Amino acid sequence: MIIFKTANELSNYLQQQKKRGKRIGFVPTMGALHNGHLSLINRANNENGLSICSIFINPTQFNNPADFTHYPVTIEKDIEQLIAVGCNVLFLPCRSEIYYEQYKAKQFNLGRLEEVLEGHYRPGHFQGVCQVVDRLLEIIPADNLYLGQKDYQQCMVIKRLLQLSQRTSKLQLTIAPTIREENGLAMSSRNMRLTPEQKKSAEAISQTLFYIKANLQLQSLTTLKTVSVQKMQSKGFQLDYVEIADGDTLETATSLQQPLVALIAASIGGVRLIDNIILK
Ligand code: AMP
Repeated sequence: MIIFKTANELSNYLQQQKKRGKRIGFVPTMGALHNGHLSLINRANNENGLSICSIFINPTQFNNPADFTHYPVTIEKDIEQLIAVGCNVLFLPCRSEIYYEQYKAKQFNLGRLEEVLEGHYRPGHFQGVCQVVDRLLEIIPADNLYLGQKDYQQCMVIKRLLQLSQRTSKLQLTIAPTIREENGLAMSSRNMRLTPEQKKSAEAISQTLFYIKANLQLQSLTTLKTVSVQKMQSKGFQLDYVEIADGDTLETATSLQQPLVALIAASIGGVRLIDNIILK
């Protein structure tokens, strides 16, 4: 695996590889890698001539400074894991390679997508996500971009970013399934901050989502949400939302005649977790 720390060197290298006919599969991450991330790298490896992972803890997407400060950093282990799965290139930029001196923060027209759900609870978060992904895609001439369904709203936001930046004809977006722990908890870098007891309680998130899916045809959407809130609160979660939403717009669903996704955001012991399940 080749490690690049500067945008210029990486860009030059990738342009050469492209001239040689290699297709590039790109997986952006913030590190503290787990099997969820590695599933995306495997996919990028299998479907492209060259796989590239970036690790950059993007300050502009953290609305909560404490979350940024506590974000886990495990770079040595990350490198070992990337080598073990056969990742070809790692981009490990410092802040000034992404947000260089004359960098002008763009404003992306995300509409309601940045107002609902995560957008409401994390103001500015999706603008930060778009800034970093837009900048990374300036540097990396990717053919395929791999994201995890785990961050469903982020996937919808990036889909919109690709339309806004007119990249859809050159770049294919793949949304890969959520990889879970044995107890159903969606893998997340933030899980490292949970105690074993909290990790056990956190299985309530996926269980509640599976409950919604199993009962979709049996109960009204309102009842499903009310029962879900009770389930989560009884496990000691501080709940931001349990929502059943339109799978494209993420607006609250009003009927079963639309693509549907159930989403949860909740904190335990000060660690905020999100998860979702596609219902139809
Ligand atoms: P992050 O490092 O949290 O920014 O995540 C980098 C990428 O990995 C994003 O596209 C995430 O959606 C994806 N990802 C995170 N957790 C999982 C998971 N459990 N299963 C699949 N993909 C994931």
